[in-house]
This record gives sequence, structure tokens and C-alpha cells, in this order.
Amino acid sequence: MIKVEHVSKKFKHTQALKDVSLEVKQGEIVSLIGPSGSGKSTLLRCIHGLEVPESGKIYLEGELMDRHDPVKYRAQRNKMGFVFQHFNLFPNMTVLQNCTLAPIQVLNQSESEAEATAMRYLNRVGLAEKRDEYPNKLSGGQKQRVAIARALCMSPEIMLFDEPTSALDPEMIKEVLDVMGDLAKEGMTMIVVTHEMGFAHKVGNRVVFLDQGVIMEDAPSEQFFTDPQSERAKDFLSKVL
Ligand code: ADP
Ligand code: MG
Repeated sequence: MIKVEHVSKKFKHTQALKDVSLEVKQGEIVSLIGPSGSGKSTLLRCIHGLEVPESGKIYLEGELMDRHDPVKYRAQRNKMGFVFQHFNLFPNMTVLQNCTLAPIQVLNQSESEAEATAMRYLNRVGLAEKRDEYPNKLSGGQKQRVAIARALCMSPEIMLFDEPTSALDPEMIKEVLDVMGDLAKEGMTMIVVTHEMGFAHKVGNRVVFLDQGVIMEDAPSEQFFTDPQSERAKDFLSKVL
């Protein structure tokens, strides 16, 4: 589904990613974990095209993502849903409008078609009755569930999550993780940057552990949590578990 080949990314004084290679197969749930500043967000943002790597290549379903072919590149980006830590809902639009905007403007869906799809996904995240509310009337957990529904309305092939529960009050984390767990069960391909080790262990099939811009470990979740190989991963787990 995704292939990252020798990707490096530098910000002014920081080498955020150093020669990172990674393959994600259809239906895999990959947890991207590691200390703060290790390059997790940068990797996810490079995959989604929100950051431009200085070198390396990214393939989606076997096809190179190439900025110099903007029409194809945009179509490829539209196949990836991105969920942000801080939701990034449009504050001046209702829940329903948040969900239908891109399908209408980007996929040229009719309003009724986009609304029907949106209501299906809002139902799935348990928020159909909030369709006419504005985001500021919702709790954090509700906002994030709307953000997930909004991403799903674009019929993505893969979902990318960047710490989707880190900005939530503790009592709201489960409702978001439950929605993500349901998606995983339905076979969605997912890359999830998370500090929720329970989710990474039980829902994720695989852990990619980053440290200082390098993939230090890439292993099935069970193996990573019971028998981490690198000292860095052992040290990290001793602090978070
Ligand atoms: P993580 O998500 O694992 O916490 P990031 O990918 O956000 O890590 O950051 C990796 C490194 O790159 C950090 O040292 C961070 O300070 C730096 N970095 C990230 N984004 C930027 C940016 N826009 N400008 C400058 N430095 C950045
Ligand atoms: Mg981050």
C-alpha cells in the first residue's frame, strides 16, 4: 500500500529523518512510536505530502508520488486520510458541512450524495445527531470522531493518525480508540503515531520504533512489547509501560 524508500528530511538545524525505509501492506495497522522529537510526525507528514523530503521516494499502491505530476499527485494524496492531534475541523462549518466539503469540492460529488455518505460515517462514529452543531459545541472526543468521519468521507485507501488522542481528556480517549479499533477490524490500512501502548499492542499488528530520525526497530507488536531488541526501545518501554 505504502512504500517509503530512503527518505531523509532536514529542517534548518535538525536532521528529522535519516534514510528511512518502510513498507506497509494492505490491512496492516502500524503503530509509529518513539520519544518526542524522534521524527514520527515528520515521517507521517512526508507520507501524506504535508512535508517534502529532501531525498527519497514514496510510493502509494506501487505508484511513485511525484510532485512534478500535480494532477496525479493530488489524486494520490486524496486517497490518504489524515487525522491530526488537534482535530483541525473548520470552526465556521457544521459537523455535516465539515464532512461534505471535500467530497463536493474535490471529488465533485453532488450535495445529496456527499450528505448521504457523511451521515453513514457520522452514524458509525455515533454522532449523527450532531450533524447541525458547530465544532465549538462538541467535546474533544466528539471533535476527533468527526475528524475521523470527515477523513472517511473521502473513501481513503489508508488512514494516517498523528497522536489522535494526545489532546483529549482521559475519559474521552477510549471513545476515539474504539472508533479506530472498529476501523482496524474492518480492514482499513492504518499508520498511527501514538503513545497509547495498549492500542499499539492489542489493535496494532506491527510497531515501528523511531529514535533520532532512524527506525531502530520494526517488529510484530507482540514481539516488540515482549522482546524488544534495541537498547533504545527497551529504555523507551521501561519509561512508558
Ligand atoms: P515527533 O513527532 O516524533 O515528536 P517531529 O517529527 O515532530 O517528532 O520532529 C522531529 C525533529 O524535527 C525535532 O527535532 C523537531 O524539533 C524538528 N522539526 C519538526 N518540524 C519542524 C519544523 N517545521 N521546523 C523545524 N524543525 C522541525
Ligand atoms: Mg509528533
